[in-house]
Amino acid sequence: MNSGYTKAVLALGSNLGERNDTLSGAVADLVDPPEVRLLAVSPVVQTKAVGGPPNQPDFLNMVLTVETSLTPRELLAHCQAVENKHHRVREVRWGPRTLDVDIITYGDLRSDDPVLTLPHPRAASRAFVLYPWSLIEPAATLGGERISSLAASAADFDDLALFDGFGDFDGVSTAGAVDER
Ligand code: ADP
Ligand code: MG
Repeated sequence: MNSGYTKAVLALGSNLGERNDTLSGAVADLVDPPEVRLLAVSPVVQTKAVGGPPNQPDFLNMVLTVETSLTPRELLAHCQAVENKHHRVREVRWGPRTLDVDIITYGDLRSDDPVLTLPHPRAASRAFVLYPWSLIEPAATLGGERISSLAASAADFDDLALFDGFGDFDGVSTAGAVDER
């Protein structure tokens, strides 16, 4: 890593509208400023919505690793600006949203601040974060545990499949979803 840049892991999710288009645009927007350099992009996975109102469309999720010269708060503001650009719906907590961008880790920083909690407090129990992350960083750990092990024991692991680009029609399940974990 170059001096002045810190590695960060970002998790993206979308379950409203043209979900894959939204993720594609969000990746481009997140790494657009010179202060955020792309390291790796995970495959897109498809998951059932966890928590919140019932009968939501499935989520598409993915993980990016970046290195950034932004401070943690600046990176959060940047992620929220990208959410807003993609017309995120904020009314219902854990409800459908066009785009959610969470900071999973920022270097080794630990923070209990509710505005920016690091590592992200729910990441260790979310296969839809852990599994795509493990595909681009197999050796990564969270709280001392391998993220691939955490993924396999997460409650939502069985509801997750690689997204193959078909069936992106308002949450209709993906007939051709590849399940080759
Ligand atoms: P969620 O991602 O849990 O569905 P939101 O995206 O609406 O919920 O986030 C609510 C708040 O969580 C944000 O306003 C933000 O300040 C706070 N937050 C705390 N820690 C983080 C983090 N690691 N990444 C992103 N947002 C965070
Ligand atoms: Mg969020």
